[in-house]
This record gives sequence, C-alpha cells and structure tokens, in this order.
Amino acid sequence: MTISATKLLGKPVQEAILDDVKEGLAAFAASGHRPPKLAAVLVGEDPASAMYVRTKTRTCEELGIDSEAIVLPDSTSTEELLARVDALNADDGVDGILVQLPLPDGIDTEAILDRIDPSKDVDGLHAQNVGMLVQKRARFVPATPAGIMQMLERAGITIEGANAVIIGRSEIVGKPMASLLMHRNATITVCHSRTRDLPGVCRGADILIVAIGRDAMVTKDFVKPGATVIDVGINRVAERERIEEIFGERADWEKFDERGYIVVGDVHPEVAEVAGALTPVPGGVGPLTIGMLMSNTLEAARLRAASAD
Ligand code: NDP
Repeated sequence: MTISATKLLGKPVQEAILDDVKEGLAAFAASGHRPPKLAAVLVGEDPASAMYVRTKTRTCEELGIDSEAIVLPDSTSTEELLARVDALNADDGVDGILVQLPLPDGIDTEAILDRIDPSKDVDGLHAQNVGMLVQKRARFVPATPAGIMQMLERAGITIEGANAVIIGRSEIVGKPMASLLMHRNATITVCHSRTRDLPGVCRGADILIVAIGRDAMVTKDFVKPGATVIDVGINRVAERERIEEIFGERADWEKFDERGYIVVGDVHPEVAEVAGALTPVPGGVGPLTIGMLMSNTLEAARLRAASAD
C-alpha cells in the first residue's frame, strides 16, 4: 500500500485551540471573574460515554475550568433527568451544561435538550442555538463540526467554492457541518442511508466529511484523488476477522490483545492511497471536539458575565 495522503493530526490543532482558551481564561480571571464551570451529566454505564465525560472533566481541570460530572443510573427517568437539568439551569455557579449522548432508551432526548437553558447549552443542540447557527449568527456551535472547521482552516484547505460532501445528517455532526461549510461558501451535498449511488456522489467531493458510525465503510472508490477526507467515525471493533479484513498485516494485535477491541474510523485505511489529506482515527477529529467544548464553556461564562454586568 502506497500512502499518499497527508495526515491531518488533531493534537496540534487542539493545542492551538487550547492556547486560545488559556489566553481567554487569563483575561477573564484578570477582569475579576471566577473560573467558568462546566457540568457534565452522564446517564448509564456505557464505557465509551463514561470515557468521553472523564476526558472532558480532566481537560477542564488541566485548564483551570471548574467541572462537575453528575453520574446517574440507567434507571433514571425523563422526569428525574429534567429535574436535574432544571437545578443546573438555576445554579448561578454553573456556566455550561452538557448531557452526554446517547441517552439510554426510554429517556426523551429531545425533551432533555429542549430543557437546557440555551445560554448554558455548550453542545449547541438546543433548538434556539441550532436556529442561530443556521442563520449565521451562531452562539454555541456543536464542538465536533466547529473543530473540523478549525482543522480545515489551519491546514490551509480551500473551502470557498469547494464541493463538500457530508455523509451523515445527525444533529451533532452532519447538519451543523453543512451550515458551517455553506457559510464559508462551499457547495454542500448531505448524504444519508437513502442516498442513491453514495460512492458516485462522494467521488464529486473536494472535501469529504464522513460521520456514519460504520467501521471502514468508505473505501477508495468513494474518493476523488487528492480530496481532503475527514473521518469522524469512532467504532470499537472487537471481531478478529473484521480487523484482519480491514488492516491485513498492519493490524495492531498488541493493542487488540490489551483492550479487546480496536478503534476504527468510518474510512477504510486504503483511502490514504488516494486522498490528498486524511484524518487518522484515533488522533484526528477526537481531540478537536474536546478543544472546542472548552472554548464553548469559556464563551458561556463570558456571556453570563456580560449579561450580569
Ligand atoms: P448518527 O447515528 O446520529 O448518524 C449517522 C448518520 O449516518 C445518519 O444520518 C445515517 O443516515 C447515516 N448512515 C448510516 N448508515 C449509512 C449508510 N450505509 N450509508 C449512508 N449513510 C448512512 O451518528 P453521529 O453523527 O452521532 O456519529 C457518527 C460517527 O461519528 C459515530 O461513529 C460516532 O461515534 C462518531 N462521532 C465522533 C465524534 C468525535 O469527537 N470524533 C463526535 C460525534 C460522533 P440516516 O439519517 O438515513 O439514518
């Protein structure tokens, strides 16, 4: 396999985002404000969700942002969770609230997201914040697509006039990604499970954003030579045969034996042979998401402080 794609690493972009956050935090403290505070609510015991919440609160700690992880059992009802959200909304010491998704079956996710005070909605999923983003006057942009924009810009990828194809139309990635790229004058196509001739549509992309949740689904035949490919997918693959199928001799069996799974993106590794630039998984988009969440938390604290003045 001849790799031609430039690796778009998330870490340096995350560091640049966090440097900006540190500067902002210092200025915020210098003007006499207490540190921002993020409350992260986790319901149930999904190991990946628990890991994301830990990473978020740990990064807060490293930056000097206060944080609180509220861990609730799987059996939590929608009413109980709404009551928790109400309490966080009313708490003047809390600037940002995030409810880790997906919530367990049986909880009404829409009702929960609707209840979060839009001025504390650092994940940018409240209808008011979604509307503001669509109208190009965003307050909080969902962290993953916001981070991807930072990566494209910092890597010097031409966005204006580019054909951008997004696979996935979720509230958290696909839809906000489309708004952000459209606002930067790209021409947008959003694909999903009912799209006809998906590989053909994707081959028209100068920028291909992949957020599906299916390991290694996007193969070489989806990609125009030289295209920029952003792999958002995070899939834990625990079947030996599938890992062999995807990675062949390059499979990292040591990691597999240690963890019992390998983290694989939605993009097949063979895409590195044709793409111009490609984000690795792990180490690509993941770190950006954390960086932008920190940035949104600082912004929430700034907005609260400004409205209190
Ligand atoms: P969702 O499950 O909400 O959305 C998946 C989208 O992919 C849907 O729009 C669905 O179409 C589409 N899709 C599913 N199967 C196909 C198919 N065969 N062909 C074409 N489209 C298909 O996922 P998310 O957007 O929440 O997440 C996507 C991936 O990104 C996941 O692996 C997730 O773990 C990862 N992720 C990573 C983050 C990071 O920080 N790196 C942050 C957020 C997510 P339809 O609408 O028709 O069902």
